[in-house]
Amino acid sequence: MHTKGIGKNLYQIELNAGGIPQLICSYVIMGKKPILIESGPTNSVPNLLSALEELGIAFGDIEYVAITHVHLDHGGGVGTLLKRLPNAKVIVHSRGMFHLVNPETLWHSAQSVLGTIANIWGPPEPIPKDRIIPVTEGTFDLGEGAKLTALETLGHASHNLSFHESFNNGVFPGDAAGTYVAKYGVVVPTTPPPFRLEVALASLDKLIALNPSVLYFSHFGKVDNAVEHLRDYKVQLQLWADIAFEGVCQNQTLDQVRESIIAQDPVMSSIADYVRNHKIYSKTMLENCVRGFYEWAQRKQSMQVP
Ligand SMILES: [Zn+2]
Repeated sequence: MHTKGIGKNLYQIELNAGGIPQLICSYVIMGKKPILIESGPTNSVPNLLSALEELGIAFGDIEYVAITHVHLDHGGGVGTLLKRLPNAKVIVHSRGMFHLVNPETLWHSAQSVLGTIANIWGPPEPIPKDRIIPVTEGTFDLGEGAKLTALETLGHASHNLSFHESFNNGVFPGDAAGTYVAKYGVVVPTTPPPFRLEVALASLDKLIALNPSVLYFSHFGKVDNAVEHLRDYKVQLQLWADIAFEGVCQNQTLDQVRESIIAQDPVMSSIADYVRNHKIYSKTMLENCVRGFYEWAQRKQSMQVP
């Protein structure tokens, strides 16, 4: 079974991307017509399609595929997916639209940033412009008086959308609220360069203001106590920022800052061995996300020196 019901009119789909469990999931909202949240990467599209079959959803019935952002693990597969969903349109942030129509730049930069991980996700295929609905904010009718609301929540990326669904008062934050490491029940920052701390914190305030009950992480799964998680994540981002800034002021290397974060953030201390040995997280969390803070701290320092 790749699917499970997790709320009213809502299913979670384990994409098992790269053969790695509990890494990336999609969601289906059964509104007036089914809506998919996140396509996941290209290479797991066959898993997604078989999960839709498992749920008894006809491919032609799917109205929208909403992607939180175009990074390959979230929206990389949407071009391939759309070839099988004849009536679906893609909801994406306006600034992400170019990359869906012309995915070559995105693919090349993913290869240079992610190395071999990009090949695990697979290359994105282009999407015809007329199948894309670009938004920065907006609402979509789910029927029964319910709606799906898109909110601009930048910081992790310059084009991250979160989606609120009113059936369960839940939010799909994409990467705006961190990675939920389901195995340990903890959240870790998702902050690759160019990470903008102040913008990310403002986005979290925007989500907290909605007073959501649940969060649906793309990495990975549903959590209750949404507001508490969002508040804790703000504190954690500030902690990483303080450690990175202090390190940069002391001329520490990226490696030294990473080790300080692992030593001083109780969440990171508790899962350090797991993350260091994880095929994906060892690269994304321990290299790219720490580097996002390191470069942020360098920018901050360069602005403070007279
Ligand atoms: Zn991302």
